[in-house]
Amino acid sequence: MNYTRSSALFAQAEKVIPGGVNSPVRAFKAVGGTPIFIKEAKGAYLVDEDNNKYIDYINSWGPMILGHAYKPVVDAVVEKTKKGTSFGTPTEIETQIAELAVSMVPNIDMIRFVNSGTEACMSAVRLARGYTGKDKIIKFAGCYHGHSDSFLIQAGSGAVTFGAPNSPGVTQGTAKDTLLARYNDIENVKQIIEANKGEIACIILEPVAGNMGCIPPQNDFLKQLREVCDANDILLIFDEVMTGFRLAKGGAQELFNMKADIVCFGKVIGGGLPVGAFAANKEIMSHLAPLGPVYQAGTLSGNPLAMAAGLAMLQELNKDSEIYTRLEEKTAYLHNGIVEALTKNNITHTINRVGSMISVHFDEGAVVDFETAAKGNNETFKKFFHGMLDNGVYIAPSAFETWFITDALSYEDLDKTIAAVDAVAKTL
Ligand code: PLP
Repeated sequence: MNYTRSSALFAQAEKVIPGGVNSPVRAFKAVGGTPIFIKEAKGAYLVDEDNNKYIDYINSWGPMILGHAYKPVVDAVVEKTKKGTSFGTPTEIETQIAELAVSMVPNIDMIRFVNSGTEACMSAVRLARGYTGKDKIIKFAGCYHGHSDSFLIQAGSGAVTFGAPNSPGVTQGTAKDTLLARYNDIENVKQIIEANKGEIACIILEPVAGNMGCIPPQNDFLKQLREVCDANDILLIFDEVMTGFRLAKGGAQELFNMKADIVCFGKVIGGGLPVGAFAANKEIMSHLAPLGPVYQAGTLSGNPLAMAAGLAMLQELNKDSEIYTRLEEKTAYLHNGIVEALTKNNITHTINRVGSMISVHFDEGAVVDFETAAKGNNETFKKFFHGMLDNGVYIAPSAFETWFITDALSYEDLDKTIAAVDAVAKTL
């Protein structure tokens, strides 16, 4: 493939944007090479500035569950734009999307919209602290909840890719209130709670981890967390920024028949525009300003264009009773095809999958937490990534990311992807 124009644009960007990117993992630092600059996308495909075409498995890191430039979403945004882009007042559409989200997701009565997943998680933790009157939080190594200070403690995803799970700039004071646990290890959680009796406001986790590759909760892990939270007056926060409206209409709570106290959303809920949200029952949400003392605000929160995109997206998902079955079937098909291609070529691998989230680790053995995820062979991944790119398949440029399957992918696209895996596996 020819990447001439992308390379030139990257060189230009590097002069005025740190690292040439506005979010670090886009920089291809973990895999080497020059990031490709995308000029347009439609359905399952991206087109770059050199007119190369790719089947997309990043999908803007999750939001584009129905594919790119999905007509109902685009139309809704275009129509809204004509009427003004922001008013800083309440608008009817905010209530419409709130009502729909509350009707789709179990265990929530009220929802507040923000502008990103980071803001959603940050605000959810503040609410949990304000509600319980306690300071400490438990997060899991390898789980990413955005780039707010409290969460940059062994965060997965980009933070790990850059070898900086603990970022300079996060104060000791903040870091000491974040207690780190091992994913899928309930005994470890219990020990931490025991050592910090009466001090923990909340446990926050990705109910299916997606930022250390895809890691499902094992056995009764979520149920045991619920029990331990109830026994210790700790709020359970599900960060469903990735899983919300992706694994089921009601997200991981519905899929696993679980109840979280606070749920965070991002990605799909914005239809590709900057939206995040957090939600809970009325009692907890009543602690938020202006009803209660926990402060949280945003000039562009509930922005009409973002709400229009999000509402159109949720309406599409809500009316299509087969969507989650189709996504699961397509992902399972891809999963089987990749296993076959890698096995045939003697490439050691482990594949994890939940619903339409899937990841390929180049190592054998179960991948259940950050430690096992980190064992993946990064050199193999780098070659795999570039091989796939050259074969017209765009996966995330980091071994710690999940592939997102969209409904826009046809079985022909999936077959092309599997053929690319086979071709690349021969070169590994
Ligand atoms: N939580 C999870 C689970 C995420 O995957 C992400 C982003 O990838 C975030 C929070 C942060 O969201 P944002 O990048 O919109 O701030």
